[in-house]
Amino acid sequence: MKFFICGEKAGPKPFRIAVIGAGPAGLTAAGYLACKGYEVHVYEKMPEGGGMVAFAIPEVRIPINAVREGVKDLERLGVQFHFRTKVVYDSPRELGDEWAEHFVSLERLLSEFDALLIATGAWKPRELKVPGAELPGVYDALTLLHQVKMARIGYYSWERVPDFKGKHVVVIGAGYTAVDVALEARLLGAEKVTMAYRRSLEHSYAKTEIGKLISEGVEFVEYAAPVRIIGEKRARGVEFAKTKLVGGNVLTTDERFIIDADIVAYAIGQLPTSPIREVLCASEEILKDAGIFFAGDVVTPRNIGTAMMEGRAKAKEIEEWLFNKAPRKVFPVPVTARLISQVVNGEC
Ligand SMILES: Cc1cc2nc3c(=O)[nH]c(=O)nc-3n(C[C@H](O)[C@H](O)[C@H](O)COP(=O)(O)OP(=O)(O)OC[C@H]3O[C@@H](n4cnc5c(N)ncnc54)[C@H](O)[C@@H]3O)c2cc1C
Repeated sequence: MKFFICGEKAGPKPFRIAVIGAGPAGLTAAGYLACKGYEVHVYEKMPEGGGMVAFAIPEVRIPINAVREGVKDLERLGVQFHFRTKVVYDSPRELGDEWAEHFVSLERLLSEFDALLIATGAWKPRELKVPGAELPGVYDALTLLHQVKMARIGYYSWERVPDFKGKHVVVIGAGYTAVDVALEARLLGAEKVTMAYRRSLEHSYAKTEIGKLISEGVEFVEYAAPVRIIGEKRARGVEFAKTKLVGGNVLTTDERFIIDADIVAYAIGQLPTSPIREVLCASEEILKDAGIFFAGDVVTPRNIGTAMMEGRAKAKEIEEWLFNKAPRKVFPVPVTARLISQVVNGEC
């Protein structure tokens, strides 16, 4: 997988850039900047690069070796990787943190580098808030896919992955994550897989992939919103409300129905996981003045192509900023830290 193509590497430039997160956005940015002659360091909490592509997307769709080739290309270009290293400011525990052996503060990176690119993705699954969601047998699909992928590429033992054999799996959602969990459930021997979505198939951006799953025997239920997980000691089914669309909004009706399930996986979206929690309230201009840029899913969860395009665009922006914003350090570090805490405390 090519994250960046560099015709001829430019001569060394007097700036050092830290990229936080080695997913498609961070890797593409790192490739662009290294090709232009900058010293680029990538900090990544996982043991290797690739982000969601390496650690969540099923091996049958994108093999880990393809991702590894792309990362090796960047190493050859001079990008310096710091794996198993989590960058922290105020980040709570997130999926994948168990792999981090080193912790580096954002403040330290601000003092050591001329600019930072935060490309940390969206690793927090949106919670399913219905009664019974805490029952054994109910999983968020992202964590489930992460466990399966880690087992497939040899980081986890299969004991950590739920047994799908002969099970009826109900998947709530119709995005990439929902598609992939349905796919893995089938590959891992589920007897029946049902996907349920609160809109229609036509409304899903993954409708082509879902169409393929339907042709392979996956059931797809449209206009269904979960209202309750049924079961006492563990999940036994999901009660859904029939929905309807009114002016583009999803409304639940009084009509209810139940789908039996042994495993329930919900894939209802992911939330950005930045070392600075309140990115969304941040004035991008304030952070930019401090030399902090953002790219990829950490801004808005989307897709690989957009993350890569944004990584490249932000790398170019960093380059322009570095050359137009002399002197190099716009704010001394304590001031920068104060700006960040204003952002974090919602004072922005
Ligand atoms: C199951 C699934 C299937 C998908 N399928 C498709 C698909 O078919 N097609 C498509 O186009 N898109 C798909 N996507 C979406 C796509 O994977 C993402 O849009 C893309 O990976 C985003 O890239 P990114 O670089 O912004 O973030 P990520 O890929 O999430 O990478 C972020 C990286 O930052 C690291 N990180 C996070 N916090 C820290 C920290 N504090 N310190 C150090 N490192 C940190 C993470 O470990 C991770 O490696 C899928 C997503 C999922 C979850």
